Amino acid sequence: MQVSDEVAIDIRNMNKWYGNFHVLRDIDLTVHRGERIVIAGPSGSGKSTLIRCINRLEEHQSGHIVVDGIELTNDIKNIDKVRSEVGMVFQHFNLFPHLTVLENCTLAPIWVRKVPRKQAEATAMKFLEKVKIPEQAGKYPGQLSGGQQQRVAIARSLCMQPKIMLFDEPTSALDPEMIKEVLDTMIELAEEGMTMLCVTHEMGFAQAVANRVIFMDQGQIVEQNEPREFFNNPKSERTKLFLSQIL
Ligand code: ADP
Ligand code: MG
Repeated sequence: MQVSDEVAIDIRNMNKWYGNFHVLRDIDLTVHRGERIVIAGPSGSGKSTLIRCINRLEEHQSGHIVVDGIELTNDIKNIDKVRSEVGMVFQHFNLFPHLTVLENCTLAPIWVRKVPRKQAEATAMKFLEKVKIPEQAGKYPGQLSGGQQQRVAIARSLCMQPKIMLFDEPTSALDPEMIKEVLDTMIELAEEGMTMLCVTHEMGFAQAVANRVIFMDQGQIVEQNEPREFFNNPKSERTKLFLSQIL
């Protein structure tokens, strides 16, 4: 699991408000290619907002966000370019219910990337094999378990050949027996060198996979460290309190 010197995401002095509510405060974060970052923190601390800002599902009001060398501003061309490089997987899989698994995976490649259908289907099958559900390709999302649906969502993202993957609590809506199959898929992606930012409460995953854990509270990055130090030797009182509540 190599981390390169190349910068994948650079966030400088970034602030965001929802109306009067200052949700992200002076965020500075540099992510190098190949990094696997887990973002932890209490509910409402701004974790989802932060990762949604990285593909402009939310807009920041000051500071800079640069993704793969492209600064996120109101320029729609740049936003589209960034979105085509950044995959996102949500807590609630957000699959299209009226499309088959295969169609979910080929829709964007065919219509956004203009990939020929046959080629898009071959790529989709490759990624459905990778997430270990090629036999579900002809089914509809409603016929699949939650864990299978989330693996389709991951495969669908991979079909766009992203350089960066963002995960927002991908296992929080799953029954316990399905969490592992999704985490295993994420571990495999990490091992292949994908740059990943994962909001998750799965601290076992953080310990096994992350090269860095970031702790957020009240819109700020309070502390960050490599996992062993983060869990064994937390510095701030807020981190200690958080860890005492979840571990
Ligand atoms: P987390 O993912 O850490 O639970 P969020 O980023 O979802 O935190 O939310 C951070 C804060 O911003 C919370 O107080 C939440 O209520 C508020 N918030 C989130 N989305 C919106 C929105 N669209 N409008 C107003 N407030 C929001
Ligand atoms: Mg959230």
